[in-house]
Amino acid sequence: NADTLTKILASIDGRGYGSYKQLTGSYDLGRCRLVVDRVQVDPFAPPSLMRVIVGRSAAALPEDLLSDQRGRVAATDFLTRAASAAAAAIGEGISIGTPGQEVLERTSVALTDEGVEARLAVQLPAAGRRIRGRAATRLLTEDVPRIAAAALLHASLDAAALRAHVTLHRDQEALRDQLPGRGLVAFVGNDAILPRRSGDSDLPLTEGAVPFCSPESMQVSFQLPSGRTVSGMGVTEGITVIVGGGYHGKSTLLRAIERGVYAHRVGDGREWVLTRGDVASVRAEDGRSVAGVDISPFISGLPSGTDTRSFSTTNASGSTSQAASLVEAVDAGASALLIDEDTSASNFMIRDDRMRRLIPAEHEPITPFVQRIRPLYEERGVSTVLVAGGSGAFFDVADHVIALQEYVPRDVTAQARELAETTPQPGSSVFGPTRARIPAAGALRPTGKTKPASARGRDTIRFGREHIDLAAVSQLVDAAQTTAIAHALDRLAELLEQPEPAEHPGAAGSRPTLDAAITALFVRLDADGLESLSPHRGHPGHLARPRPLEVHAAVNRYRGLRLHE
Ligand code: ADP
Ligand code: MG
Repeated sequence: NADTLTKILASIDGRGYGSYKQLTGSYDLGRCRLVVDRVQVDPFAPPSLMRVIVGRSAAALPEDLLSDQRGRVAATDFLTRAASAAAAAIGEGISIGTPGQEVLERTSVALTDEGVEARLAVQLPAAGRRIRGRAATRLLTEDVPRIAAAALLHASLDAAALRAHVTLHRDQEALRDQLPGRGLVAFVGNDAILPRRSGDSDLPLTEGAVPFCSPESMQVSFQLPSGRTVSGMGVTEGITVIVGGGYHGKSTLLRAIERGVYAHRVGDGREWVLTRGDVASVRAEDGRSVAGVDISPFISGLPSGTDTRSFSTTNASGSTSQAASLVEAVDAGASALLIDEDTSASNFMIRDDRMRRLIPAEHEPITPFVQRIRPLYEERGVSTVLVAGGSGAFFDVADHVIALQEYVPRDVTAQARELAETTPQPGSSVFGPTRARIPAAGALRPTGKTKPASARGRDTIRFGREHIDLAAVSQLVDAAQTTAIAHALDRLAELLEQPEPAEHPGAAGSRPTLDAAITALFVRLDADGLESLSPHRGHPGHLARPRPLEVHAAVNRYRGLRLHE
């Protein structure tokens, strides 16, 4: 109990930091229980991992809010935010992760048989390398219970806000469920606030934001489980081009759609921007590595003679990187692609007439995307939403053209059609079937790898001696997702070594395809919970659920990746 904890801390006060190890164990602190799972070895190591647990009756969460997975995700998100605020009020020492604007499945707060459990990272206090026993006593016997009281105990629970949070989340996901059946890729609700406060803030712009308003011709409505109806712009399957003058809000709209694969919290402004969960942003990313990707629909006949049906490089150019990322996303199952001119290689997107006359086709390895966007939809069923303010070339292939003028969208499909020319479309199929990607034996087991893969912030995974750079993977939104992907890579290394069951053909040498292994990983994750990704029992660390697409993206950017031939 609390006395034991106080006694241990008094006895190790002033001793070397390593003596904190003695804290490992479980303590009854009255209204909550504290479990110390892992103690940091020194003051500069990652913080110690502890759980604070409040019993079921003391938490008294309404059962109907926890009756489905979506309810549980939203409820634990709500409690995580409450605990995060309480921890921030105390100071630097205690963290539960800082959720952003998205509501994600996380391991920070868990519902267990015992009750509700908050997983904390605690920086145990030190003076130099010596233990500060009294400060630690205050931290663990006063501050930690205060967080539990503020965030987890029924008495302090804002029940109405919790209910609203869960209801919103269920409505959002129900709307997302309806998108494919309505032939939509995404939905942007009327009155949504799309712009953000600044380039480095994900909070809504408060001053001068123009609320979204759908063009009448594109307006759709949804009936939601709570009884609520929402209306807004439906982005249909096929090819949608967003045009408009510079600074009129094109990228802001596309970015909102890109983030719409996640549900946003109340007050974000993008609550009713919802995109199918399998939509992928694709951009140029020169310098990335590429392993065995068939980019021949876009690039062939390179001056080096390289075979682009199985293209590999350690240093892709703008256009080859964009082609590779696009094909990878399609092969990983993306149902639609989001592409912005701002982050595209211009030679990948279009080539004008004058250039065609100067450089004949036989000397140009690139077939621009404008010629492939239609076959991509017709042969593979993959839609595209594209921002193109600088070229009318896409009018010829667009199903819908949206013009933004001072942030207000108009349907200009008819006018754009009048300006369109018919472009010759290829007669024969250009994409062919999806190629199985089968990582070679030991492909995810780097030589000299002694430690588990780990995340460094949102952008980087340390994997053996390599760093996997995820900065350009724009739908990765939280460092806790990156941590989950790091663990996923270690799990995939195991899954890839397991022979493929006989009922799965296609995997030639009985080795599983990358796609099969990632699918198996997510099946497990659904069955055993997100925290099953963690190599640790007890406190799993702070993980948030990534999408399979981002796991693919991480594997595909790993510089050591080799494919089975
Ligand atoms: P574009 O891609 O058309 O050049 P952006 O989407 O980058 O334009 O937007 C330009 C600026 O306008 C950004 O600072 C953005 O935050 C702001 N903005 C975008 N949409 C709105 C809106 N609906 N209301 C107010 N400001 C907006
Ligand atoms: Mg832009």
